[in-house]
Amino acid sequence: MILVTGGSGLVGKHLKDIMPDATYIGSKDCDLTDATQVDALMNFFRPKIVVHLAARVGNLLDNMTYPVDYLEQNVLMGVNVLKKCHEYNVDRVISILSTCIYPDVLDTYPMKEEDLFNGPPPPTNFAYAMSKRCVATHTDSYVKQYDKKWCYLIPCNLYGEYDKYEEHHSHFVSALIKKIYETEDVLELWGTGKPLRQYMYGGDLARVIKYMIDNDIVENFNVAPDYVHTIKELAEIGVKSCGKEHLEIVYDDTKPDGQFRKDVDSSKLLSVMEDFEFTSLESGIRRAYDNFSQRHN
Ligand code: NAP
Repeated sequence: MILVTGGSGLVGKHLKDIMPDATYIGSKDCDLTDATQVDALMNFFRPKIVVHLAARVGNLLDNMTYPVDYLEQNVLMGVNVLKKCHEYNVDRVISILSTCIYPDVLDTYPMKEEDLFNGPPPPTNFAYAMSKRCVATHTDSYVKQYDKKWCYLIPCNLYGEYDKYEEHHSHFVSALIKKIYETEDVLELWGTGKPLRQYMYGGDLARVIKYMIDNDIVENFNVAPDYVHTIKELAEIGVKSCGKEHLEIVYDDTKPDGQFRKDVDSSKLLSVMEDFEFTSLESGIRRAYDNFSQRHN
């Protein structure tokens, strides 16, 4: 039996599309910050495999405003889930981290898996990053002490039709899609437009998770396409993909840029999944935009 936490989120819904037989839970089914509820959950389902997607996830402003919530919720969820997976003898656990938790600045890019602890994470999402680094350390410790077949994936920022488009939640590409839909003249974006970003269609991460389960692969991998764009380029690709090239894009450089770059190297993953192809930004953005338009028409 496969249990997926965070089943009502962006990644969870993409995974459900291609792995419908697993059991998907959201916060209404079980508050994972509560150890008693997690114990009852594991006791009821007795899963063999757990995919731990659940987390407090949000954009830069939300991270800067609510660092306590990010730290406490994600640490508690991680500790409760992994501890109970151990107590209930779960064979395989795949947890999801994020490339935002890598060091703020490194000498060389793209970053590799072994760079994860080579410096402090960015100040703008420090609490979130440390909570996810705890999940990494916790997983590595179970592997070391109990020889578990547990691992984690480190995906770049995501977008897709299942993203929540509220202001506090959505990352750049989803916020961009919403703005493109709502705007007819001037598209105003935060920052200078200069930071570099990797963005991945949520369904691509779901395909990687499914492949790892189906093929019994236990490794920690970065998961990100090899294309890296400035925010400015992403905005231009966005308006073009959505058929709104007439929009004027302006930047408010009084607002923060966030981390300058955090691109990662996925060659370790691709050495295992040799034929894997990431969805192009153009087609992924178009798909998410069409879905957004349909829902709001
Ligand atoms: P999401 O859309 O925000 O979904 C979060 C999920 O976590 C929801 O199912 C939510 O349940 C659940 N959750 C939150 N608090 C919970 C709690 N206390 N108890 C139980 N469940 C709780 O997130 P996502 O974008 O799918 O992200 C999935 C994973 O990928 C996360 O670990 C995230 O850190 C990681 N990630 C995301 C991105 C990105 O750009 N989105 C990038 C890199 C890594 P409800 O729906 O009931 O609230």
